[in-house]
Amino acid sequence: MKLILMGAPGAGKGTQSAKISEKYNIPAIATGDILRGAIKEGTELGKLAKGYMDEGKLVPDEVVVGIIKDYLSTEACKNGFILDGFPRSIPQAEALDSILAKAGSEVTATVSIMIPDEMVMERIKGRALKEGRADDASEETINNRIVTYHNQTEPLIEYYNKSGKYHEIDGIGTIEEVQARIFSVMDKF
Ligand code: ADP
Repeated sequence: MKLILMGAPGAGKGTQSAKISEKYNIPAIATGDILRGAIKEGTELGKLAKGYMDEGKLVPDEVVVGIIKDYLSTEACKNGFILDGFPRSIPQAEALDSILAKAGSEVTATVSIMIPDEMVMERIKGRALKEGRADDASEETINNRIVTYHNQTEPLIEYYNKSGKYHEIDGIGTIEEVQARIFSVMDKF
């Protein structure tokens, strides 16, 4: 199972990927978490990523592709994985396809958790109080992330639709309801 979890900021990708990881016993790889970890540790990667993240922009493709390439080559990812927050642009999706193709493999499916923009703002403001993420603190940054999602990430819907790998589920509801919708798609594979 090589699953991509897509969705706007605050759609619930992180919450749901943890549940999927448990049920299918495959690792969840979240580029946002990896980048935040690098910022916390003060590494070169963190220093580079911080400016983009604070502005709600994408970190350059070659940087995140490099991270993913390293992770996917590990033993832990041999039997499958969930990608949370990657790919986020067409060049990233193409790079992923080529990394997997070189290993004789391919993406199994992309599941997109859909929520309306108004809900993105509402949920992120709620999360900001609990998690204290820098990029959740300002309305301007949240708006930029919504715009980035529409402009750079949404074209992936067509990209994965063309290969018949795209599935969409409603992200409104309780964590358990959304989880059940995702599992009902995944159980078909
Ligand atoms: P959210 O989905 O709530 O925006 P993430 O933790 O997935 O949260 O991402 C936070 C930020 O990290 C993004 O706004 C972006 O700056 C950066 N980032 C994460 N994944 C990628 C990626 N695949 N490509 C480029 N930038 C990324």
